[in-house]
Amino acid sequence: MKNILKNALLVLLSILYIGCKKETSKKPLNVILMIGDGMGLAQVSTAFYFGKNAPNFEQFKEIGFIKTQSTSHTITDSAAGATAFATGQKTYKRAIGVSKDSLPIPTIIETLQQKGYQSGLVSLTPITHATPGAFYAHVKDRDSHEEIALDLIDANIDFFAGGGLKYLKRRKDKKDLYAALLAKNYQLDSVALSPYNIHKRNGYLLANDGLPSKLEGRKSFFQDATQLGLDYLTEKEKPFFLMIEGSYIDWGGHAMDAELLKQEVLDFDKTLGVVLNYIKKHPNTLLVVTADHETGGVSIGKSYVIDEATGEKQEEVTNVSINFNNDQHSGTLIPVFAKGPGAPLFKGIYENNEIYHKILKAIHNK
Ligand SMILES: [Zn+2]
Repeated sequence: MKNILKNALLVLLSILYIGCKKETSKKPLNVILMIGDGMGLAQVSTAFYFGKNAPNFEQFKEIGFIKTQSTSHTITDSAAGATAFATGQKTYKRAIGVSKDSLPIPTIIETLQQKGYQSGLVSLTPITHATPGAFYAHVKDRDSHEEIALDLIDANIDFFAGGGLKYLKRRKDKKDLYAALLAKNYQLDSVALSPYNIHKRNGYLLANDGLPSKLEGRKSFFQDATQLGLDYLTEKEKPFFLMIEGSYIDWGGHAMDAELLKQEVLDFDKTLGVVLNYIKKHPNTLLVVTADHETGGVSIGKSYVIDEATGEKQEEVTNVSINFNNDQHSGTLIPVFAKGPGAPLFKGIYENNEIYHKILKAIHNK
């Protein structure tokens, strides 16, 4: 009798154990990858000097650095950088979702779709631009926007928001890819971030080319598109991978325009606030924030009052100045900030393509 009781208890315990295990492993990890194009440590630092409040960057405890060189050049570009994140392989400059031998390689979105994941892309550039493009397209050169747009049709991205309408609607080959997307169960909007349709995929192409920069009058598109994407992907109750690109930090560097850089970093930080708020409510989410490379060789230096007549430096003032080394990408290590399940994996110093492998490891370890 004692033995029967003991056995019954054991069976009960194992049922409970299996039940609990099922409970915790039931929900696969959501992943949000935020890329600040051209955002090195000096760019991040501007948020600490020029923001009104403490930057959201300050909320991270798990921080690492990546080495960004491509297979063809020490100083990478956005295409090779994004392809490394998206495919786990380093490749040559200008490559979109192809290996250093120009062969197509599966992207993280394609890999995760096999596991039942949804996917989302938010960018300020055309959705066919190098960074978003590398997550779904496979072309030899980043300038082949029309070819990249063709890949978008078959990519089954569940939610995307950005610009690039002309690469779908006003094409050299006269194909109407806008209509092609509608035929693939998309709800599309080219005017505003209208409410999504939960029964369809949703695409927002709100500019012919790129969206305006902050200095050109972009309002809250970046935060609103991010929130809309998160709401939609969450309501579908399937795990998701969402890539969010702050595209114009890079422009600030290329234009050597301190004000543009500052405003774009602050807007990125504000969007980061939206995402951090989301993961507080949805802790089953890994957030990784990084950049493809730094742009401008930016440093934060002393600031002086300049004598307008002579051009000479007068006294030093408390504010700092943003200095540019040149108008090109640079080769500095790039910070990686992580939060949520798997975040400790992102500590240390490693190659940019490791980001892909670490994300998959975090999903696997869950
Ligand atoms: Zn870039």
